Amino acid sequence: FAQGWVFIRGVPSMKFLPPEGPLEIAFAGRSNVGKSSLINAILGQKLARTSNTPGRTQELNYFVPDGYSGEGKDLPPIAVVDMPGYGFAEAPKEQVDAWTRLVFDYLRGRSTLKRVYVLIDARHGVKKNDAEVLDLLDRAAVSYQLVLTKIDKIKAAGVPRLMEETAQAIKKRAAAYPEILATSSEKGAGLDELRGAIALLLEE
Ligand code: GDP
Repeated sequence: FAQGWVFIRGVPSMKFLPPEGPLEIAFAGRSNVGKSSLINAILGQKLARTSNTPGRTQELNYFVPDGYSGEGKDLPPIAVVDMPGYGFAEAPKEQVDAWTRLVFDYLRGRSTLKRVYVLIDARHGVKKNDAEVLDLLDRAAVSYQLVLTKIDKIKAAGVPRLMEETAQAIKKRAAAYPEILATSSEKGAGLDELRGAIALLLEE
């Protein structure tokens, strides 16, 4: 895993995407699911984030290992993409539509996108808007894996049932990777497993 990471650009539409490198992974999730915390924990540093406040420009945020610009021939071995959060209660329809357009174009058009990690708040499970995102991923035929966040908020006795319910939500989904990861950025749980899963993709 790279030692240091840098933000290279925010992508509001397809024409602003950086050149394709060998491999890309992305993180998606409802706003407040703990996506920034998890990305920071996985990459081992606090990354500058552009705001995900409702109404602001929605962008795909690109991070690459330090030392690569991501431009021209200076392509990184891996890029990590922080996708804009979804599921704002107050989001106007145009904003939801813009999100869906950007994300679906990206999912369909990015051949180097290896996997999307879809973060699910352990306290809430797979909600309707999460399921809609899984529908998009299935339609785009992009491999994805569910990652439960904030597992520290769940009593240990409740975890097996949560895992079972989450597994049910992806059982019949074509592009879903069957193994579900349970993480806590706060307590450090599951982070090695997630890093290991990403490292395996790099080796493929
Ligand atoms: P984002 O909107 O998805 O990027 O979410 P953030 O990473 O900003 O986190 C949203 C809130 O959840 C913040 O108050 C975090 O402190 C909290 N949070 C994030 N990860 C965890 C976790 O693993 N455990 C607990 N208990 N809280 C968390």
